[in-house]
Order: sequence, then structure tokens, then C-alpha cells
Amino acid sequence: MKKLTLLLALVFAFGALFVSGCGKKERDRNLYELACSYDDGVLDGTLDFTFYNSFPTAVKELKFNLFPNAYRQGAKYPAVAASAAAGAYYAGKSYGNIEIEKVAGENGEMPFAVTGKDENILSVPLEEEVFPDERVSISVDFSVSLAKINHRLGITESAVNLGNFYPVLCGYDGGFYECVYYSSGDPFFSDCADYEVTFTADEKYTVAASGELKESRKEGGGITNVYALENARDFALCLSENFETMSASAEGVTVNYYYSKDKQPVTSMEYAVKAVETFSSLFGAYPYKTLSVVETGFNEGGMEYPALVYISDRLEPAAFGEVIVHETAHQWWYAAVGNNQVEYGFLDEGLAEYSTVLFYENNEGFGMTRPQMIGAAELTYRTFCNVYDKLFGKVDTSMLRPLGAYSGEYEYVSIAYIKACLMYEYLRLTVGDDMFFKGLKKYYADYAFAEAEPQDLVGTFEKCGADTNGFFESFFDGSVII
Ligand SMILES: [Zn+2]
Repeated sequence: MKKLTLLLALVFAFGALFVSGCGKKERDRNLYELACSYDDGVLDGTLDFTFYNSFPTAVKELKFNLFPNAYRQGAKYPAVAASAAAGAYYAGKSYGNIEIEKVAGENGEMPFAVTGKDENILSVPLEEEVFPDERVSISVDFSVSLAKINHRLGITESAVNLGNFYPVLCGYDGGFYECVYYSSGDPFFSDCADYEVTFTADEKYTVAASGELKESRKEGGGITNVYALENARDFALCLSENFETMSASAEGVTVNYYYSKDKQPVTSMEYAVKAVETFSSLFGAYPYKTLSVVETGFNEGGMEYPALVYISDRLEPAAFGEVIVHETAHQWWYAAVGNNQVEYGFLDEGLAEYSTVLFYENNEGFGMTRPQMIGAAELTYRTFCNVYDKLFGKVDTSMLRPLGAYSGEYEYVSIAYIKACLMYEYLRLTVGDDMFFKGLKKYYADYAFAEAEPQDLVGTFEKCGADTNGFFESFFDGSVII
């Protein structure tokens, strides 16, 4: 995600499909076959989910995150902090949720439970244990009602945002990791899978989606689109009656821009295209065939999903391009190289921020320079330290903290975005440009479509031969003085 408050305003081969004797595709990753229809604030769907056990142990139960329940009345972990609610709920109080209607397996209906700390987990005990390298398929019928809210999931003032709307398998961390919906940061963690999504809505809508459009048909006043996306840890859509569209090509990637208020769409498209080109050159090839950039209602600056990004239609023109760059950088850092965003949000946010610096450094004429941006980040960070020192008599700048351990948005942004961005600048000054970019390329190559932890980042630079002794630790533990 990109905060409004910031001053700084492949391996496909390893995941390849193979075709079994019966002709059905089998995969070494999970498959989400989603069939959904949207009408008047309600999305009805069926998820046919094939689980491939890539874990080292047998699995007796599947657990899915139910993020839409963070919008329900009485949520313990509401999607929006009370301090931000007025800006997000544009029509007063409004609620949404997800109902799980039925779960079925090969032998018919299966028992299930909606559990977790905040009705945030769908738990499905399996009929039989699934051993490593085995598969099991289940289907889940669900219905999502949408709140009127400018947020990841909801009817916004200008479009319908469908992010985090379906049951998504919990990420694996020695067991299924249950995310609760912290309102600061992006409280998500899921593994890469393949998606085949059929989406139906009134034909008045133009639909933006993660993934490639494979088929589109109109019938009975409705439009049905079929999308495919491989090796992705999420899938999002966005629809509006008012979208205008523009397409361009960058490094063989089709960039689609959906907008309704933007007065300078050609300029916005230029940011997206240059970002894809710059990051492909610096880090490695863009991970998907398409990128949908969507101007929509959103109460922060922007939000990243695989192959789709939201850009808030509230942003001033000067910030709009920067947010496009930041969210596009997340295609490398979050979508491809994943991390547990609850435990280590700084891993992807810091790199998305530093990638934004690299964009401006490598593209003159976009109005900012690397020294300007680093100077602004240092000033912002030092101001945060002074404010906290004066208010509380101390400041905690440690980085290995889960979202729930931050006091709020200001502290989280100062550490996970700004301090983490500065960490990459100082690392670059310490090891030199050649080693720095060699390390980033290797980090991308080694962890694309997997999930990295902080020690993987450290280890990557060590494997490249960089002398980083104590460098990362001083940032992580908060001892470094900036
Ligand atoms: Zn971000």
C-alpha cells in the first residue's frame, strides 16, 4: 500500500503445468477456479479450490482467510481505524461481510467452521489426510455483501473495489498463518497459486482485473469475462460505469489504464510504462503478462494486487504519478517476491519505496531526484524520532515487529516505509552500486513466487560477496542512528 501521509510522496519453468494422461491439467501449486457474479452490492461466488500439498507434512485441515468479515458490524479488527473512518465511510456507517453457504468435496457436503480471532478464518477439516505432493479439491459457495466505503473491498464513491473478496488459503509458515485485519499496513500473507476466474456483472460496467482476459461475452444484459493468472498470491477486480481505458505495451507487457477523473491520463500511463521498463531492467522481468492500473475510490494513496493496482482518485496530480510507481514496484516486491506482510511489512514496503527513488533517478524529467528524495526521507524520519522522543521519552525504531506491535499509522509508516527505504540507500552506499544491484537481482531471481524473510535478504547479499557484517542487524534492532 502507499500511504497518503508519506512525505516521500522465471521461474515459471519450476511451476510449469503438466498434463496428465486424462488430459486434465495438474499443477504443483494450488488452483483457484472462481465463478462470481456481482449485482447491486452483493457478490455471489463459487470457489473450486484444488490444494496441492507442497508442505513437508500431511495436512488434515484447510484454513482460509475471510477478509470481508473485517467490514462487518462489531468486527474486533475493523478494516479501518476509528481515526480514519470519517474519510473512508463517505455515506455514514455501512457494513459488509462474507457468508459461507456450503462446502463440498468429492463425497458431497463437508462440515466447516468460521473461526479465528475475529470470524476471519474458514476452517475445513478434510475427509482424509493429504500427504506431501498429493492433491484434494473442494468447492466453497459464498456470498459477499459490500459496505459503502472507499477501501480495498467496497462500493466506493467512484467504482466497486473487489480486493480480498474470496476465501484465500492462509499462507504457510510451518502451519497455516491466520491473518487478522490490522488497519495499519497490509495484513496479508498467501502463497502463489494459479487463477481461472469467471466474472459476470451488468454490461454497463467496465471491468478491470488481475490477469489476462481470455474471453468476453455479452448476454441478457450482462457481461461475462474469463481471466487467467498464473503464479499469483491474490486476485482482484474493479468495476465502474464510468471507466475510460487506455492501453500501452512495455517490455512485452500489456499495461491497461482504467480512469474516470484523471485529467492527464497520457502522463499517468507514461509513469506506469516507464516503471515497468525501469524495474524490468534493474531487477528482472515483470512477472505477469498484463498490468491493470486503476484509478478508483480509496482512502489511502494506492494498493497493490498481483497484476492490478489501485490508485486513489483523491490524490493531487503531483502525488498520483509517484503512487503509480510505488504500486507498480510492488509487482516485484510483494507479488513476485512475497513476504508475510503482517510480520515483515517493511520487506516489501521498503523496497517499493526505494524502487520509487530508483525510478526518479533513472528517469529525468519526472520532477524529483535521488538526493531530493533521500533528503526528504531523512528529514521525515528524524522528525518522527524527535516527536516520539519528546512525547514518550524514547523511540523504538526496531523493524522486526508484527503490525500489531506498532502504536499506529505514523510509527508504522516511519519504520516500514521510510526507515526501510533509507536502509537500502545506505546499503548501496556501503557495498557500492555494482554489488547492490547484483544483490537485488539475485533476491528477485531466488525468491520470485516464493516468500522471503529478513534473513533471506541478508543472506542474498552475503552470497553475492557483500561485506554487510552488522549492517542489517543495526537497522533491524534499532541501534543505527540516522
Ligand atoms: Zn506499498
